[in-house]
Amino acid sequence: MRIGLGYDVHKLVEGRPLYLGGVKIPYPKGLLGHSDGDVVLHAAADAILGAAGLPDIGELFPDTDFKYRNLDSKKILEEALRLASKAGFSLLSLDIVIICEEPKIIPVKRQIVDSIKKIIGYPAHVNVKGKTAEGLGEIGKGEAIASISVALLEEIDG
Ligand code: MG
Repeated sequence: MRIGLGYDVHKLVEGRPLYLGGVKIPYPKGLLGHSDGDVVLHAAADAILGAAGLPDIGELFPDTDFKYRNLDSKKILEEALRLASKAGFSLLSLDIVIICEEPKIIPVKRQIVDSIKKIIGYPAHVNVKGKTAEGLGEIGKGEAIASISVALLEEIDG
């Protein structure tokens, strides 16, 4: 068994769609980023890569590389899982925290869990929790969204 931790934060800006866990969430602002800015999938991918002892997404998908511009972050999670599997690991469990003042996570939680399970494509436990920053700092002011993920991987036999 291996455990990995992932973290990400992106700035919320006008004129971008908001993607969380691969789900397009109706909201007046979206996350700024070289890719689609999906903090949830970025943190999840880093947790998986970390557990497998692989390079992080900053190394695998450098934001200096034009080909990753506006990249669908589902591809990042898919690639993390593919590399983990190549390294001999499968995902058992993914626990995710989304930290934001708005939007509220509870109404979209099920959709996010289902979206991530669909990307994984094999039975793994996925859990999502929403947290506010209690008005503190940039996240508290609604200027950013952060996500933390913990992944548990199991070594594949043979
Ligand atoms: Mg990111």
